[in-house]
Amino acid sequence: MPFSAHYREIFHSRGLTADSFRSIRDLEQLPFTSKIDLVNSPEHPQRTKDFVLIPDQDVLTRRPSTICQAILHGRAAVKRRFEVEYRPIFMTSTTGRSADPVPFLYTQHDLDTLGVAGGRLMEVCGARTDFRLVNMFPYAPHLAFWQTHYASTAFGIFTVGTGGGKVLGTDGNLRLIQKIQPDVLIGMPTFLYHILQYAVEQGMRCTNLKRLVLGGEKAADGIRRKLRNLAAKLGSPEVDVLATYGFTEAKMAWAECPFPAEATPSGYHLYPDLGIVEVVDPKTGVVLSEGEPGEIVFTPLEARGSVILRYRTGDLIEGGLVYEPCPHCGRVLPRLLGKISRNSEFKAMQLDKIKGTLVDFNQLETVLDDATCVISWQLELRKANNDPLELDELILHVRKAPGTNDDKVTRELNSRCLERLEIRPNRVVFHDADEMTELLGIGRLLKEQKVVDNRPKRTATESSPAPAPEASDTSVTSVDASGSGSSKTDVEVKS
Ligand SMILES: [Zn+2]
Repeated sequence: MPFSAHYREIFHSRGLTADSFRSIRDLEQLPFTSKIDLVNSPEHPQRTKDFVLIPDQDVLTRRPSTICQAILHGRAAVKRRFEVEYRPIFMTSTTGRSADPVPFLYTQHDLDTLGVAGGRLMEVCGARTDFRLVNMFPYAPHLAFWQTHYASTAFGIFTVGTGGGKVLGTDGNLRLIQKIQPDVLIGMPTFLYHILQYAVEQGMRCTNLKRLVLGGEKAADGIRRKLRNLAAKLGSPEVDVLATYGFTEAKMAWAECPFPAEATPSGYHLYPDLGIVEVVDPKTGVVLSEGEPGEIVFTPLEARGSVILRYRTGDLIEGGLVYEPCPHCGRVLPRLLGKISRNSEFKAMQLDKIKGTLVDFNQLETVLDDATCVISWQLELRKANNDPLELDELILHVRKAPGTNDDKVTRELNSRCLERLEIRPNRVVFHDADEMTELLGIGRLLKEQKVVDNRPKRTATESSPAPAPEASDTSVTSVDASGSGSSKTDVEVKS
């Protein structure tokens, strides 16, 4: 690590060298790096620069291997090789709203790795080179779009990128799908759902679909079933809905392999030669054993450009890390099993206790996604009478399934919420398709707004806790606090 300002310092202060690392357990000598270490401050206006590998020419030229290469291939070839390895030529960034987006630099070497990881992602998903793919991720400097792009070129599969809703709009996406008749759609679950729902309403046929690959945000179980149903209505009853998991800091993503619809998802198949995944106790940081739930920590093995070691994602994996061969594809790869939720979610929402009950927004999402009477939903947090000192109100905006009755849907949602979360919304408000599209910001925003915080901000003297660190661009969730900075809240539940 002589070329990383941040880790040079850490290695030096702890007396570590490359030889200190002989097994995975030796990694524990290194401290974790977390989002907070990457955030700029007035003293450190370019914090992320400390994590970029910037080689020292003197060190490189003195290396025996460099001298050998120069004798064998000439100086120009050696120089070119170092450029490929170390010169940043590409960038993606996190999607933080309140914090500055954190840039992550790639060299050609990293882009090659992104391609290798992408090719494997395609293989794990069971792609074939004669498939046609539509990449519906937003066209932006974010991992999801570019991982898909490089995966397609590495695998050698026909791909069209629509740029998501922002570039072509709903109609443009539908027209392309109609024309191309793709085998695979890949995009954010909420956007895919929106597009397929429209396609069904327009009476479209799309009989080639074999895979719907989800990324960029969390895929709830409920949405998988709903997507499968929509694909069946379009004439594709045999569709695999597969989730992927990745984050900016990993510079790669992992996927599930196809599994029967009624089975438990196969888990995210990792690439152990490209990076080490650990699962740690989110409170103590102790590394957990196989199958134990905990926080995902990542260390890349092949990265250049921006490099962070033992990166704490803030993502909690329910089934932990497992090493047994995959029961579906038989691959002997470590897998991350079960649902992923974000550690910082409740903190970000600042809604920890309601009437003495911890409200789990992940669970709330699952409850609402699983409700068959609901096509789409948004949860709005407000203050009664828009008064910052008033009690919080939970308003549930809903587009209900055709042929359902308002009162019945309200009753069902109230009882589901009460049963599972011991709270219920103050009001349920019904909307049509267009109103809901507008509310959720589909095609307008990068991520669908499933939870919005419309509580008026308090003045500086009233707000006590510091805003939660902005969550990074993981594929985990769309839950976000737009109004961070308000103090801890008690939601009064009227029953
Ligand atoms: Zn598998």
